[in-house]
Amino acid sequence: MVTLRGVNKWYGDFHVLRDIDLTVTKGERIVICGPSGSGKSTLIRCINRLEEHQQGDIIVRNTPLTNDLKNIETIRREVGMVFQHFNLFPHLTVLENCTLALIWVRKMPRRQAEEIAMKLLARVKIQDQAKKYPGQLSGGQQQRVAIARSLCMNPEIMLFDEPTSALDPEMIKEVLDVMIELAEEGMTMMCVTHEMGFARTVADRVIFMDAGQIIEENDPETFFHHPQSERTKLFLSQIL
Ligand code: ADP
Ligand code: MG
Repeated sequence: MVTLRGVNKWYGDFHVLRDIDLTVTKGERIVICGPSGSGKSTLIRCINRLEEHQQGDIIVRNTPLTNDLKNIETIRREVGMVFQHFNLFPHLTVLENCTLALIWVRKMPRRQAEEIAMKLLARVKIQDQAKKYPGQLSGGQQQRVAIARSLCMNPEIMLFDEPTSALDPEMIKEVLDVMIELAEEGMTMMCVTHEMGFARTVADRVIFMDAGQIIEENDPETFFHHPQSERTKLFLSQIL
């Protein structure tokens, strides 16, 4: 699904990603964790070309990420993204947020787009809020709408960047439950999260990043109970 080979990225002089090698296979669930500023968001933003890398290869389902606009369009179709702050359009209803890309990018008739959107809103259990505006919903509800909106495009892989870290504690579970369901249905997922319960339940692999590098990757059991590097041990001692 996704291959990164020798990926390096700089913001100006700042070397933010260092020699990243990573392969994600179909149906795999990857959790990425690590201290703030370690490059986690940058890494997953590179995978749908919200950020550009300067060195190495990123290949998403046989499409190399280059400056070729056609490739970027292909990748945006196949890769769904969910952000920490939901990023819904505040002036559009829940339903309109979900149908926007189907109508304007996919050129789908409105009726058909709405049918798909309602199905996916039902899947995240929020179909009764379809006519409301994002500002009228709780954070947990908004994040579920954001997930439904991504799913409307029928992506092959979903990227999550700390989807629960802006939420009040009582809303975290409703979002994690939706993500767990997605995982159980076989979605390929890469999630930046510090929800270690989620990592234990669904991750096939946990990746630990620090200072732009992948320091360690392992199955959750080994990762949590037998961390190899001192940096991983220190990080785990701070969050667990
Ligand atoms: P994480 O998600 O692990 O907290 P980020 O990928 O957001 O880390 O950021 C990694 C580093 O890159 C941080 O030091 C951050 O300040 C820096 N950074 C992030 N985005 C930019 C940008 N657009 N321009 C310059 N520096 C950035
Ligand atoms: Mg981040």
